[in-house]
Amino acid sequence: MRKRGTGTICIQGGYQPKKGEARVLPIYQSTTFKYETSEQMARLFDLEDSGYFYSRLQNPTCDAVAAKICELEGGVGAMLTSSGQAASFLAIFNLCGAGDHIVSSSTIYGGTSNLFTVTLKKLGIEVTLVDPDASEEELAAAFRPNTKALFAETLSNPSLVVLDFEKFARVAHEHGVPLIVDNTFATPINCRPFEWGADIVTHSTTKYMDGHAMAVGGCIVDSGNFDWMAHREKYPGLTTPDDSYHGLVYAESFGKMAYIMKAVAQLMRDLGTCQSPQNAFLLNVGLETLHLRVPRHCENARRVAEWLSSNPHVAWVNYPGLPGDKYFERAQKYMPNGTCGVIAFGLKGGREQSIAFMDKLGLGAIVTHVADARTSVLHPASHTHRQLNDEQLIEAGVRPDLIRLSVGIEDVEDILADLEQAMAHVYE
Ligand SMILES: *Cc1c(COP(=O)(O)O)cnc(C)c1O
Repeated sequence: MRKRGTGTICIQGGYQPKKGEARVLPIYQSTTFKYETSEQMARLFDLEDSGYFYSRLQNPTCDAVAAKICELEGGVGAMLTSSGQAASFLAIFNLCGAGDHIVSSSTIYGGTSNLFTVTLKKLGIEVTLVDPDASEEELAAAFRPNTKALFAETLSNPSLVVLDFEKFARVAHEHGVPLIVDNTFATPINCRPFEWGADIVTHSTTKYMDGHAMAVGGCIVDSGNFDWMAHREKYPGLTTPDDSYHGLVYAESFGKMAYIMKAVAQLMRDLGTCQSPQNAFLLNVGLETLHLRVPRHCENARRVAEWLSSNPHVAWVNYPGLPGDKYFERAQKYMPNGTCGVIAFGLKGGREQSIAFMDKLGLGAIVTHVADARTSVLHPASHTHRQLNDEQLIEAGVRPDLIRLSVGIEDVEDILADLEQAMAHVYE
């Protein structure tokens, strides 16, 4: 079959109505699904037949949206989760248990950092954080015999480090573990991590994919490329019998679908972090314009980044789409069509000036959120990364004066005028 373009997948992916069915993806607002014999239902519980039975595990609306994201990423299987946090957690927990270890880039979202260093630790899973720009030898040194995955973000939130995919994929595969990449900021419009060696992709769909700040959600996509059976002893959860399904072995029964099948059948069954069909419907409406919105975010952000970098009060600007940025060349390689709409910058004078500036913005609103249609700002040191001390902030790539500016898709002249008047107030 001819491979469809990204825009076509955004609009039509995941749902093909048959004769007389709803043209728009219906919201299957039903917890449960009907069968005619007890035997039919029993086969579903044994994973011998596929079909819907309870929306904690699977729901047709959620599955259609997962299939669309799966096609956008070029994967073999995907599942929606209740949030990006749930996606990150399940992606790791599907491979790890007490006594295991993961290696992660240190420049990751604050929530993921808490999950990894505080909560996973309570479950007996240890993490080693590495500088994403460390040499291959330094990265390799972080691995242990019990390391089960390498994790990083395509474009780190909020520091905007561009991942060196080839280096990370090489080190992961040399150690026989999958590379898991959080592709939230780039979206598959600008970067498809599987093409650069990532094995599993996670998303906070709450951000650009939804795009309108309506619904919290997440997604996990599997490339199907990692050979679990080749690393049998390392991944017993996938390669040895699951007693909770009469001794079924995921990697034998489901082949390339093993990872997602296990995450759905076992983790979603037991942990219940599913997305609601209502939220999946809203996410789908967002996805229908993702290919139009993302380029506009990037174009506006580039104009704003240029304006900031030529402003005398601005101390520094991180925007990998800007020539001269530390990551410009790497961004050109991995995401030549654009990066994202988020810019990180600091003002001369430091933390106090940065906070005063944000308070004076009118069109740009102070919100926790990032990456939606409306321009917004956040001061990570005071907000998302509040738990970290200054030393930990630097390690996470978050300078104490860093303003995270999420450039929206309003008219860029209005965004610039707002920044200009706020700047005038602070430095008058
Ligand atoms: C927001 C975010 C998350 C967490 O997602 P939620 O939907 O808020 O749970 C994870 N990773 C990145 C890069 C994010 O920006």
